[in-house]
Amino acid sequence: MKVTILLVEDEDSLISYLQQELQFEDYDVITAMRGEDALEKYAANKNKISLLILDWMLPGLDGLAVIRRIRKQNDDVPIIMMTARDYVGDKVSGLDAGADDYITKPFDIEELLARIRVILRHSEQHTNRDETYQLGNLTLDAKARQVTYGDNVVQLTQREYELLLTLIQHQGEALTRDELLDLVWGVNFEGQVNIVDVYVRYLRTKLDKYFDQPLIETIRGVGYRLGEEAK
Ligand code: CA
Repeated sequence: MKVTILLVEDEDSLISYLQQELQFEDYDVITAMRGEDALEKYAANKNKISLLILDWMLPGLDGLAVIRRIRKQNDDVPIIMMTARDYVGDKVSGLDAGADDYITKPFDIEELLARIRVILRHSEQHTNRDETYQLGNLTLDAKARQVTYGDNVVQLTQREYELLLTLIQHQGEALTRDELLDLVWGVNFEGQVNIVDVYVRYLRTKLDKYFDQPLIETIRGVGYRLGEEAK
């Protein structure tokens, strides 16, 4: 079955060029030139779309608003953000809003294709995981992408959830910051490695109250580990 990509870009020449290249690589491509249009087409084709390639600067709703609306519905479809901007701040807000990857224009088509392959491979691994994990009284349901404590939902952001899931899947192993960065943020993430520390702190703030001992251990000079005893 062909992989379907929703391509959102308002620039005529670029959208037709990208569409052509993607089709040449055997992807099915749905195009949209405005944010509103992208959301409509996404909603109408949700079941078959495997990836969004989304321009940041769009007339009407911009790319960031599109991502936020999709993520608000707890939808984790992979999204690659395209932008002409080159500020780290924007990159962080794009990734924070839930983009999986980020590519700065102008880019080489091969670079985009490589990133698409990485993301699709990554998301395939994720969709195969529908286990439920138990940590004390905390339950992580990978299918529902939800963490609960008893009957209460523990509110985690996309990134916090991914980090927790990754730590659980490697329970007992010490993971370096770089490994966590690759696994959770993706190999193409270009921000600072200390974003890992920031998100570990977020998770601790939200989760430690449910456990007698801190859930995530700091391994000095290495990184972090979710202890074996947290079961
Ligand atoms: Ca644009």
